[in-house]
Amino acid sequence: MSKVLLKVEGLKKYFPIRKGVLNKQVGYVKAVDDVSFEVFEGETLGIVGESGCGKSTTGRLLMRLLEPTEGKVEFAGQQISELSKDEMRKARRDIQMIFQDPYASLNPRHSIGKILEEPLIVHGMGSAKERKQKVLELLEIVGLNEYHINRYPHQFSGGQRQRIGIARALMTNPRLIIADEPVSALDVSIQSQVLNLLQELQKDLKLTYIFISHDLGVVRHISNRVGVMYLGKLVELTASEDLYAEPLHPYTQALLASVPVPDPTFEREQIIISGDIPSASNPPSGCAFHPRCPFKKEQCSQVVPKMQEVKPGHYVACHLYEATQH
Ligand code: SF4
Repeated sequence: MSKVLLKVEGLKKYFPIRKGVLNKQVGYVKAVDDVSFEVFEGETLGIVGESGCGKSTTGRLLMRLLEPTEGKVEFAGQQISELSKDEMRKARRDIQMIFQDPYASLNPRHSIGKILEEPLIVHGMGSAKERKQKVLELLEIVGLNEYHINRYPHQFSGGQRQRIGIARALMTNPRLIIADEPVSALDVSIQSQVLNLLQELQKDLKLTYIFISHDLGVVRHISNRVGVMYLGKLVELTASEDLYAEPLHPYTQALLASVPVPDPTFEREQIIISGDIPSASNPPSGCAFHPRCPFKKEQCSQVVPKMQEVKPGHYVACHLYEATQH
């Protein structure tokens, strides 16, 4: 078993809801509510769920782009949550992020050369000559050319811009990359090119990924293990093949039922969930999924199910996971 690179314990992010002229706090949106997991060195952990489930907020909390309300994040033996601003800036060399919309995250007034050099300048890495060398090296690694160095973001296609986003994330030789919906804005044919590039880079550079997506098909393609989030909570976490072969949580089963399978002889039991995702400012009592769950029993609306390891490495938060098997 590989070493644990990142350990998240009891992570919470509650955003206050304020109302009225006095801006009085009237409640919270529990965007991330008591999430715990580990990421092993060299793996890809996929985090999947519908929009608003807290997956992107989780990614931002790990980078401390947002401050957690509660909980611990340990990276390579260091408590990220306790670092000063300066120490956190240094730690960001090792943890980088790739965003969904590369265009929004690339400064339109800067050339690609300048955009790629910037992280090195921020972290005081290398001389001007070494930085230029590194920029050229990374352009080549992500499949772009030397002559692209003086061009501007608007001169590139969506797929090329995401390659630039990836190159920028790699400039500081990070160990962990948090990719937040990195291919969602791209055409399907370009998506697989970018996913293949990410996989090659992982192998060559021994990277660890957290891959956040609403698309189970994409997550399946790239992840070793997958965590499923629903309304701020992790509800299932296991090896990718286990999740797809034997999903235990009714929400995972419903998500999978909507993913097309390449084998026409394979039939998955259809779990239909009704209703919309409830609001995180007023989550249902007990199991937050109970208003939509076809298996619910009385206890489901009263007791919050705890995440438990029900098979080696397979965690699920459901009171009735045994009864949900077909
Ligand atoms: Fe459904 Fe109950 Fe399991 Fe929640 S705890 S997913 S309501 S069976």
